[in-house]
Amino acid sequence: MAPVWPVCPCCEQMFVQVYRFKDGGEPFLLCTECEAFWWPDAVVGEGTALLLDDVVAERLGVADGRVWTGRTWSDVLEPQE
Ligand SMILES: [Zn+2]
Repeated sequence: MAPVWPVCPCCEQMFVQVYRFKDGGEPFLLCTECEAFWWPDAVVGEGTALLLDDVVAERLGVADGRVWTGRTWSDVLEPQE
């Protein structure tokens, strides 16, 4: 899986890579270092980054602080093949 963006513009530590939600299959871009999140049609940049936790909280309808209570990343998302 090739990185789609050389280096995350937020943390400059990791490649931004393509993942997808396991339930619906929608792809998105994620930096696993700082959890910066972009939908595919977003311009990848520091100012346009969402936070994975916020997106998942909204998607699952759970409170922000409880997103990863009883679930892990691998329950929700997986690398896009
Ligand atoms: Zn990052």
